[in-house]
Amino acid sequence: CDEADDRRPPTTDRPRYFIPSHSSVEDPRITMAVATSPTSGATATTPSTKSMSTLKVKPKIKRSRDPLSPKPILDRRLLSAALDDAGVSLKPGQIDDFYQLLHRQHYPSVAEFVETYRLNDAAKKGLLPDGDERSVSSTSRSGSRPLKNLASNRPGKRNIRNLPKAFLKFLEDPSLEFVTVTSSVKEARTSADGSTTKLAVELQDGHVVEAVIMRHVSPAGSRATLCVSSQVGCAMGCTFCATGTMGIRGNLSSGEILEQLVHAGRILADDVANDDGEAENSKQRARMKHNHDLVRNVVFMGMGEPLNNYVNVIDACRGLIDCRRWNLAHGRVTVSTVGVIPKMRALTRDLPEVSLALSLHAPNQEARTAIVPTAKQYPIEKLIDALDEHMMAVTKRKMGDNGDDAGGFSADQRKMASKQKRAMIEYVMLEGDTSSLECAHQLGKLCEDRSLLVNLIPYNQTDVKDKLRCPSFEHMREFQRIVMTYGTLCVIRRTMGADIAGACGQLVVEGEKKEESDRSGTEGKETVTDIEEGPFRRTGSSVSSASATSAAAVTRHRSRNMSARGGGEVAPDGGEGDSNGESDLEGWVRPLAIATAVAASCFLVTGALFVAQRRRR
Ligand code: SF4
Repeated sequence: CDEADDRRPPTTDRPRYFIPSHSSVEDPRITMAVATSPTSGATATTPSTKSMSTLKVKPKIKRSRDPLSPKPILDRRLLSAALDDAGVSLKPGQIDDFYQLLHRQHYPSVAEFVETYRLNDAAKKGLLPDGDERSVSSTSRSGSRPLKNLASNRPGKRNIRNLPKAFLKFLEDPSLEFVTVTSSVKEARTSADGSTTKLAVELQDGHVVEAVIMRHVSPAGSRATLCVSSQVGCAMGCTFCATGTMGIRGNLSSGEILEQLVHAGRILADDVANDDGEAENSKQRARMKHNHDLVRNVVFMGMGEPLNNYVNVIDACRGLIDCRRWNLAHGRVTVSTVGVIPKMRALTRDLPEVSLALSLHAPNQEARTAIVPTAKQYPIEKLIDALDEHMMAVTKRKMGDNGDDAGGFSADQRKMASKQKRAMIEYVMLEGDTSSLECAHQLGKLCEDRSLLVNLIPYNQTDVKDKLRCPSFEHMREFQRIVMTYGTLCVIRRTMGADIAGACGQLVVEGEKKEESDRSGTEGKETVTDIEEGPFRRTGSSVSSASATSAAAVTRHRSRNMSARGGGEVAPDGGEGDSNGESDLEGWVRPLAIATAVAASCFLVTGALFVAQRRRR
């Protein structure tokens, strides 16, 4: 558990929130830090911290179903409909061009965008008067740092087409009320170790959702994962989840989901800009500097059940994988669900390459229904089948539908699919029935002969009324060991951001939280994987773990990891994928590569000498 250094229990004289050390408090986009009495829950400003504001508790009201006002321009369906209504026709792909330009300029206001576009256009045509040095910059005119866009940096990409004048006029029309970003960051809190930042994003109607940035730094490279919300609250009511206590207030539009990426991108860009600011964590930030200003993975594991907001989530996923904007690999977008079978199948049909995570949490219907009330609608076996279908969908399509039904694939086909497709089971570790060793056997059997990854998630303390606990780390190890004996890859997920209530299951609007109780479970113990690590990543030993579909293979891999780490504590598969990969390299791949290179050089030198000698003769 990647717990923070500061583990003191909250006291009445200590503000519960603090100003993130890595973020600029002068940034007008971010309103920082609220001081809340941890015992009464009442909010109060702290006199010594002028930038602090008061986070008001919102009454439990639903989101209005009226059209949004102002309208988020990142909602593509909304924009297309408004263009149709206004009679503005664009050539195919011109909306993509517009979004690409917007992304390159780091999402300036609409007016700013139009002005910059016109200036650039005039400069290109040589219409600017001599000496006019305005324009011709790919950065936003507000000076914000442009996002690196892999697509835009790629050589050989075609030029962006000119945008029609009618479209620019359309954007300027105030009655249409399109704005680039409709939400704002109300609060940003960073964990003590600087790895995790939780954002409270206020929507235009005053509702607040949460998004969590997780920074992963490793010798092989740094990356950030963003956990996004898809709904305000959640209707599923899982007993262990703080969000479930809120009930459902409404859905987020696709634009509002994507805006969470915009906010996260700005904060990560500030990370780099303020790199040499604070002494604390400066080493870590220096390592992040080169490649850490981009979100590389997005997981729909924030507030809400994403498949209950299917249309908007799918639209947002399309924006994320759009090569002109965020350009995320399909497999780096993960949709997590407690199991809505029709929508799971729809996702398989619409976006089969996107990863799907099933929050199972119990291996039999009775135990599952006790903690996931909505589970009675769908039998577990059918859920696993739907997940399996999703995993095999890409392989099936590549084989031209020659594969049989979901259960009819050969071991080799499954092995191939496991490398190409991501499908995983999430299993929260709660002290009690569902974490019993008998359940471990049931879970192992359920996943037997399928190339699924099981993620064990240590329960994070929340304020839900049943006082739940996380089992001991040793118990989770044993649970994991049993599941792996069935040939299923099983990892224990590392918890990040527990000290700022940003870990799995802890997301809830702060004003509704009660006093946090003591932490339990896995504090200070060794951790094995982060949120987006899976067996199918092409990093380190995780890849080989993915293909280890037999118990023997899993055991072999575990032994190798143990010996690589000098024995002692078991280092399960999938853990710390990058660094495990390093140790494998250091073990035998690297010497072999060096020996091959030396032999090849000798061969070439000998050949050259031989040819030279022949010529001399
Ligand atoms: S775990 Fe997910 S589905 Fe269940 S209540 Fe929480 S947010 Fe909703």
